[in-house]
Amino acid sequence: MTRRRAVFLDRDNTLIADPGYIRRPDQVQLLPGVAEAVRRFRAAGYRVVVVTNQSGVARGLLTEEQLEAVHDRLRSLLRAQGAELDAIYYCPYLDGPDAKVATYRRKSPLRKPEPGMLLEAAADHQLDLARSWMIGDSERDMEAARRAGCRSVLLIGSNGSHAESHEQASVGRPQSGADYTAETLPQAAAIVEGNEPMQDEPNEKKAEQTQLLTEIRDLLESQNRRGSQEDFSLLRLCGSIAQMFAIVVCLWGVVALASQDSAAATARFVLAVFLELATIAAWLADRNR
Ligand SMILES: [Mg+2]
Repeated sequence: MTRRRAVFLDRDNTLIADPGYIRRPDQVQLLPGVAEAVRRFRAAGYRVVVVTNQSGVARGLLTEEQLEAVHDRLRSLLRAQGAELDAIYYCPYLDGPDAKVATYRRKSPLRKPEPGMLLEAAADHQLDLARSWMIGDSERDMEAARRAGCRSVLLIGSNGSHAESHEQASVGRPQSGADYTAETLPQAAAIVEGNEPMQDEPNEKKAEQTQLLTEIRDLLESQNRRGSQEDFSLLRLCGSIAQMFAIVVCLWGVVALASQDSAAATARFVLAVFLELATIAAWLADRNR
């Protein structure tokens, strides 16, 4: 089966203006020329996929529902100008103390500069990463592209965060971390249009991407599994059973004591102490899991 080409687009300062953590649909403002560029990518045979870090969810600044509403608005503004997005992937996770919402506090392989969102999209939409592009305004976008095996265009225009830090970069010329630079998304579209798709990627690169994808999927699955197992713990269950036996054996020792069988009483009390220690060990191990 022939795999499709895609253009991956960052969201903030690439498609829309970024006043900082957009929470409401009415804050969404397309940057100039964005709809035109999306139309051109699709006309050239590319799928158009947005990949965006949205740590505002982990920071407690907005919910995933609010984020979905913002993305619905983005889709409808583009659609009104004849430009369709194929998919939007976002990463709501963040590691460290700034993540105020515990559910989203984690190091995620989806968060750029990790390539997880690009790899997931490639698996979901049968995309050929070596013939695909990533366009964004930050080095982390370029790094995600490099790790996923895509070509990249760094936006350095007045709306991009690189407007000052890359003053000396020349449009169209490669610079650190990016294959190309452009001032606007329509200029980036011209670069994509001007480059013929690369030939089949080397087998080694394919194997590396497959391996990375497998690792990311395993990690996501184990995180999901851990979440679903939080309410049930085998260690806690074993600890409870040991505790029950400790009480029964202790009572059994009391019976032996009452019968003046001191040898049996001692043995039973020793066994009860051992069971109690096992209980404490199991509960501690469960807490430190
Ligand atoms: Mg950005």
